[in-house]
Amino acid sequence: SFHQIRKDEITQKSHLGQGTRTNIYEGVLLVSGGGEHDLDYDYREQNNNSRDLRVVLKVLDPSHQDISLAFFETASLMSQVSHIHLVFVHGVCVRESENIMVEEFVEHGPLDVCLRKDKSLISAGWKVTVARQLASALSYLEDKRLVHGNVCAKNVLLARKGLEDGSSPFIKLSDPGVTFTVLSREERVERIPWIAPECVRNASYLSTAADKWSFGTTLLEICFNGEVPLKERTASEKERFYEKELGLPEPSCKELADLIGVCHNYNPSGRPSFRTILRDLTQLQPLDLSDIGSISPDFS
Ligand code: ATP
Ligand code: MG
Repeated sequence: SFHQIRKDEITQKSHLGQGTRTNIYEGVLLVSGGGEHDLDYDYREQNNNSRDLRVVLKVLDPSHQDISLAFFETASLMSQVSHIHLVFVHGVCVRESENIMVEEFVEHGPLDVCLRKDKSLISAGWKVTVARQLASALSYLEDKRLVHGNVCAKNVLLARKGLEDGSSPFIKLSDPGVTFTVLSREERVERIPWIAPECVRNASYLSTAADKWSFGTTLLEICFNGEVPLKERTASEKERFYEKELGLPEPSCKELADLIGVCHNYNPSGRPSFRTILRDLTQLQPLDLSDIGSISPDFS
């Protein structure tokens, strides 16, 4: 279950982009003072007893009942969790025929864009910090036996960029969007190489093990400055890549290549726990990191 938001409590502003069956807008949520809404929140403006929060409105495309239900499932999942590296979902608003997820606005946008745009400013240490924060959020979900299902650099948002001297990045993993059990086979194939191979064949195989595969691919995006392996391939080429159980390109840092390798085990039960992944990332020595780099991998 989740908090229900009235349509007169939200204001829709500029369009930010499109997602999987969604349109995303910047917005404002009017929160009346006190009570259950009394959250510790950075972006609020105090005015008497009510305040305006800067939010993101994720508007689901008009769709079948089962997809709306899948959207509500996600809102409900995100309402059960509380972690510094997970985005905060305020609730859901039903506005005429539209279903809208209202969530925390994360100031500096998605990680994939930042990796590409700011690559000359990003250090190996920065990348490992981001990877650790993501692993800590996923380890939390794993402990609660909750599955995210859509881990990728696009869904990692930067609350703080941390590119100035003496500062560090701070990420928040976004909600997974429409639960992928309702996606079509084509939509699942499009998610190669993030989606775990077992989930392409059968969406009901979605489990924490699938999040580990996606984490491995996200780590690759981080290592390769937001470049995406297999991006130029056709759908059937992507499918064949998984069918032949091929390996994705490796970063030059051996420790990270090994970690990605174990996440990308075609046998889901062979993938490590996020607790183990987090420990490995924490033990990475700065010396190992000088060579994290983006060899320009052959992605084609
Ligand atoms: P998917 O389920 O596939 O992730 P989505 O509905 O989450 O789809 P995205 O493509 O992830 O859509 O996001 C669309 C755009 O909205 C992105 O450009 C991203 O920058 C922006 N965005 C999404 N969530 C937030 C947020 N919480 N704060 C700020 N910007 C956001
Ligand atoms: Mg998203």
